Amino acid sequence: MTTIYALASAKGRAGVAVVRISGPESGQVIEILTGKPVPQPRRAVLSGFANPRTGVTIDRGLTLWFPAPNSFTGEDVAELHLHGGPAVIAAMVETLNEIEGLAPAGPGEFTRRAFEHGKVDLTEAEGVADLVAAETEAQRVQALRQMDGALGAVYEGWRADLIRALAYLEAEIDFPDEDLPGGLAEQIRGPLEQLMAEMRQHLADNRRGEALREGFQIVVLGEPNVGKSSLINALARRDVAIVSDIPGTTRDLIEVRLDLGGYPVTLVDTAGLRDTEDRVEQEGVRRARDRGRQADLRLKLFDAAHGPAQSDDDENTLVIINKIDLGSWEVDGSDALPISVKTGEGLERLLDVLEQTVVERMALKETPSLTRARHRQSLGEAVEHLERGLASAAGSLDTELITEDVRLAARALGRITGRVDVEDVLDVVFADFCIGK
Ligand code: GDP
Repeated sequence: MTTIYALASAKGRAGVAVVRISGPESGQVIEILTGKPVPQPRRAVLSGFANPRTGVTIDRGLTLWFPAPNSFTGEDVAELHLHGGPAVIAAMVETLNEIEGLAPAGPGEFTRRAFEHGKVDLTEAEGVADLVAAETEAQRVQALRQMDGALGAVYEGWRADLIRALAYLEAEIDFPDEDLPGGLAEQIRGPLEQLMAEMRQHLADNRRGEALREGFQIVVLGEPNVGKSSLINALARRDVAIVSDIPGTTRDLIEVRLDLGGYPVTLVDTAGLRDTEDRVEQEGVRRARDRGRQADLRLKLFDAAHGPAQSDDDENTLVIINKIDLGSWEVDGSDALPISVKTGEGLERLLDVLEQTVVERMALKETPSLTRARHRQSLGEAVEHLERGLASAAGSLDTELITEDVRLAARALGRITGRVDVEDVLDVVFADFCIGK
């Protein structure tokens, strides 16, 4: 195993910069740079750092020593706290580069080593990445929970149940018990059905955890000139803070990231929905429709001055009538929210409704939610295997068949936490990381 190093804090100017080193050479690197033996574990010690080849002092700072296995990665780890100036960091990185046996860390390599040494499971590693990326309060809480193992514990609990069932089933195959009515396979039908119901419920969460991680998508739809861009600008300027904005043309999709009561929301402006001959605009309309379909919530905007708005029964669509300052308005059927972006009338109420919807859909539940497509996929596979196993014989269960299905279901769950054959999953998980984590 090589010894790796990376700047763990952000690039640029700062009071302090932290360089992390992990691997068997870490202790020796401390000795080379400071000219002193490694300090006591987990005790900060002040010293100078010098380039061993030139003898030139780089900086004065703190050294922390975490001998294996009591470190983030499970290996020997050194942390150097330097002054956070670009030239200091550059000089230190250059010096580390010159030391034999050291290599710069790849993205997520520290956390990957932590996984490989059994320090964290895959969901916990993902929690680390999410915590570093968290922009809102609710995201922070969800990530921290996942990093602390709450989500992994749910899946490991289910996997343990399946493995227990497997043990019984295998015993039944090896030593059939003639006295049990219907055999053991029949006895575990109830518990397996119960487990399957729990997994189904966990899956049917309306993308709660994923929406919180990725941002709740609100797409604003409507014909040209009904006031879509004006509305987005107005919402972004009010109680909500703009986190980032991705500019585009009016024919493209424009996204604004908002923090609505601690929840991340992405507001998407779309090209006008109308039939058009213009090829570029047609593409814009196609993208708008696509994006609208995938949205967590659609705001359908109408112009009060141009005829009645159409109602919409879809529970994820909110009908809004804009420009009520221009005259009377009507809607056939359902509730619509009357507003005027120009005068500000109704905007407060609209924000309330949006916040309510967002909180309802993303508020943290007692049981943690799945947060990634890969969790959903593996869980879906586990449920399918159990379904097939239990359905294979409506009346009497075939012990050998159901045993195989339970084994496959347990394996699918194990892939989520990384307990079984995960080589192919690792690259997907750690691709999300940046260098230094
Ligand atoms: P979009 O094409 O749907 O994005 O519409 P815009 O936001 O570009 O607005 C089209 C026009 O309607 C602009 O001239 C806005 O100033 C105007 N507008 C937007 N909201 C209101 C409103 O509430 N009242 C009035 N009178 N005009 C509005």
